[in-house]
Amino acid sequence: MRTQVGIVGAGPAGLTLARLLEREGIESVVLEDRSREHVEQRVRAGVLEQGTADLLVEAGVGARLQREGIVHRGIELQFDGERHRIPLGDLTGGRSIVLYGQTEVVKDLVAARLESALPLLFEVEDVTLHELDTDRPRIRFRHDGADRELECDAIAGCDGFHGVCRPSIPPGVLRTFEREYPYAWLGILAAVAPSADELVYAHHERGFALLSLRGPELSRLYLQCRPDEDLDEWPDERVWDELQQRVALEGRSLAEGPILEKGVTGMRSFVAEPMQHGRLFLAGDAAHIVPPTGAKGLNLAIADVRVLAEALVSSFRGDATGLHTYSARCLARVWRAEHFSWWMTSMLHRTPGDDAFDLRLQLAQLRYVASSTAAATSLAENYVGLP
Ligand SMILES: Cc1cc2nc3c(=O)[nH]c(=O)nc-3n(C[C@H](O)[C@H](O)[C@H](O)COP(=O)(O)OP(=O)(O)OC[C@H]3O[C@@H](n4cnc5c(N)ncnc54)[C@H](O)[C@@H]3O)c2cc1C
Repeated sequence: MRTQVGIVGAGPAGLTLARLLEREGIESVVLEDRSREHVEQRVRAGVLEQGTADLLVEAGVGARLQREGIVHRGIELQFDGERHRIPLGDLTGGRSIVLYGQTEVVKDLVAARLESALPLLFEVEDVTLHELDTDRPRIRFRHDGADRELECDAIAGCDGFHGVCRPSIPPGVLRTFEREYPYAWLGILAAVAPSADELVYAHHERGFALLSLRGPELSRLYLQCRPDEDLDEWPDERVWDELQQRVALEGRSLAEGPILEKGVTGMRSFVAEPMQHGRLFLAGDAAHIVPPTGAKGLNLAIADVRVLAEALVSSFRGDATGLHTYSARCLARVWRAEHFSWWMTSMLHRTPGDDAFDLRLQLAQLRYVASSTAAATSLAENYVGLP
């Protein structure tokens, strides 16, 4: 088999890249080790920056997003028993975010790929990369019980944090930067109308909580918990009780409903530099991870492949400059998002062992963001996404 771009991973990064290349007449093959059902059901991110939503619309996969996505022009910070609105739109010249689940983004992209009858192979096994520093890199894998080899002009490593592409880069090439956090998020998806009109980021002595949503009758709620939290210790009543304690305000309790999904998400910051080696280009979670507090993971993945698609198209037309500068261009945005995600996380979570001094610092920062137009603007422009 031969193609122009071999794409490993059918998450948001890999599928969006395939779509952008298709629009420019560049061939690609997408290889995914899980089933279609699995990738379409995996509940993850749900906040799209305006630039991400615009790109999906421009790529011709945004019709349902435009119909069903919920546009938000503000978020709320809750602390000291009060909520303070950050008017994202007013502070950023009218920019906004769109609430639309990553599951839906992936379903739309898979449907478009299949409609175009272009290669998207699910349940491939034993993916390995070869000859990355030649101009004919190869991907070997098993599919339908047969060994296959795919010769490419370039390989896009879009296979997430635990994928095979980043570890295929020889030792000594990459430099990695990492921070683990001593807490995680217990997230639920509940069949109940959201209790707030906008996202609520709540700072509380018992720990952080977040009210989010996936639709008019679907709430997505999170609680700060231990990284090794045992879900068996969290029956539904305990989850609701803890959420009520952290988020309910006087006279405004949280509407409860059946819990459809429950899981613990670890929190990590991670960057691998550079995001390329020879003819392999890493994109999305394969190259970097942010804690979810800033809602940046999915948006960074899409931003990377926008740059990569442009660079690949130019290179096939004779100008390889964009491929040489791919990593540097992406890393500038990645590090800004890393800082913002770390900053939001540090401001809102209680760290085990923190003393009263740390708590006072967090509250001072929250009061400053809620009362200073300059500080609120800084949060807003990062949240809606920098150009
Ligand atoms: C549980 C969870 C909750 C999250 N919640 C949020 C959130 O609330 N907000 C937010 O902004 N971000 C969140 N994120 C982060 C966000 O979902 C990711 O940043 C986003 O999925 C990145 O997209 P990606 O395409 O780079 O990687 P992925 O979505 O991880 O896609 C990688 C794909 O590669 C496939 N793959 C892996 N290994 C191989 C292999 N060897 N061969 C072939 N295919 C392979 C995987 O099956 C997967 O389909 C969350 C992440 C997780 C894990």
